[in-house]
Amino acid sequence: MEREVIDVDVLIVGGGPAGLAAGIHLADLARDAGTPLAILLIEKGSTIGAHILSGAVVNPSALRELLPDVPEKDIPFESPVTGERVVFLTGRSAYGLPFHPPYMGNGGNCVASLGKLTRWLAEIAERKGVQIYPGFAGHELLYAGERVVGVRTGDTGVDRHGNPAENYQPGTDIRARVTLLAEGARGHLAKRLIRRLGLDRGRNPQIYSVGVKELWEVPEGALPAGEVIHTMGHPLTFSQFGGGFLYGHAHHQVAIGLVVGLDYADPRFDPHNAFQVYKQHPFVARILEGGRLLRYGAKTIPEGGLFSMPRAYADGVMLLGDSAGFLSMPSLKGVHLGIQSGMLAARTASEALGRNDTSARALARYDELFRESSAYRDLHRVRNFRQGFKRNLLLGAIHFAAQLATRGHGLSLSGRYPVEEDCQSLRGLAEAGGGFRERFAGALAFDKKLSFDKATDVFHSGTRHDEHAPCHLIVPDIETCRTVCIPKYGGPCQYFCPAAVYEIATDPKTGRKDLKLHPGNCVHCKTCDVKDPFRNIEWITPYGGDGPEYETL
Ligand code: SF4
Repeated sequence: MEREVIDVDVLIVGGGPAGLAAGIHLADLARDAGTPLAILLIEKGSTIGAHILSGAVVNPSALRELLPDVPEKDIPFESPVTGERVVFLTGRSAYGLPFHPPYMGNGGNCVASLGKLTRWLAEIAERKGVQIYPGFAGHELLYAGERVVGVRTGDTGVDRHGNPAENYQPGTDIRARVTLLAEGARGHLAKRLIRRLGLDRGRNPQIYSVGVKELWEVPEGALPAGEVIHTMGHPLTFSQFGGGFLYGHAHHQVAIGLVVGLDYADPRFDPHNAFQVYKQHPFVARILEGGRLLRYGAKTIPEGGLFSMPRAYADGVMLLGDSAGFLSMPSLKGVHLGIQSGMLAARTASEALGRNDTSARALARYDELFRESSAYRDLHRVRNFRQGFKRNLLLGAIHFAAQLATRGHGLSLSGRYPVEEDCQSLRGLAEAGGGFRERFAGALAFDKKLSFDKATDVFHSGTRHDEHAPCHLIVPDIETCRTVCIPKYGGPCQYFCPAAVYEIATDPKTGRKDLKLHPGNCVHCKTCDVKDPFRNIEWITPYGGDGPEYETL
């Protein structure tokens, strides 16, 4: 069967804030220059926003820059931030901090549903002439030598073993003069590109947290729209980086979540279960009481900062937003940086196409523009923040104080704190001893009112995958799981996956333990790709349109 080929000037992979901002700005620049461009954006979700769960506090400055003619009242935010608190939680009590930790203040920011915001941006992009194809998953990059010349979308109608079935359709080759990868955190095209071209050479490895979150409808007044609460402490220990959040949305909705650094050591630590424990704390439970769960989701967040950002350009390609690590951890903000990166990439692409030179040398302009931007200044001043918290919170606070006093340099002689990959931090079961599961044994019987097991939560993600399709989770060396990972770490994938995709099944006859996969549950968070101690799991895109479905909220 003939493979369809589409030729465009610019291909954008990913319909999040960064990709959409790139499309909008590029269309504006092309209009101003009087040289129309064919711009195509593909998105793996069934619609724009289908894979983006609500709940963010957004600095609106980048949106103002992107859409100067749009009054701020027309941006579909849930509410301006009307009040904010930082609260320290012990096992049963809550203590409000009398100050905001540096960079955490949200004056002038807005609470947003990212799903609504991206759908609104997509409408603007389409009006400006950007073609948007939802339900198209970028499967592999197309190369001419080492130059990226586009993306091949996945074949459909393939059986579980990879053989063409009756309804086989080959994927489409989208050939582009410039390709912009805005796939979000740990995008699989970006990951393979970085590895192939060594774009992270000389940089710190990227490190991540996972955010597990839910959207609730709560009784009126439980948390007014615009109220922002960040919590520290319970249920995390002093050696774990992370915290919780509650954001008041319009229509009595609350986005609630727990963000946990993936550099934790306990192999039986379970981010989903920790989130359920979090909700049972009296301070949090009071807000949710009488409410109901609407949606569930999870995603990884790139935390490494400036030193973990790969070179974000190569021949014919640029990396945007979370795919390139545009995120400021101390302020927990990435949306405005993603939008800025999209605009900088658009400007670079526009100039390069105008000169008919999209080589790495021409696209190096992206890096120049970034270094001149406020995004760079934002990231530079906190360049060692997350690395300082690698050991524990107390040491982290000392490092952070030193960084504040030295404009980000901190206590390291070189001015750059080192960091190791998250997959290297797990300790063996014997060494880890009693941990999370022992501490919270009593809180892990979920009542399905306030706390939920993974299966119930996955149901609320609306996730759906073609069960006849090849598995989108590649485990290349299953023997390592059986003979090393399960005996040594107890099968940590069954705990770190927030969607019960991995099960350690015991053969009733032989007692032998084995790995069993339920890929249909996957909510596309990429934690497994990051945290597996043997780097033995690779997440790749399933069929376009498969995955979570957050469309209606
Ligand atoms: Fe996340 Fe991997 Fe589990 Fe999917 S299988 S939900 S990507 S940890």
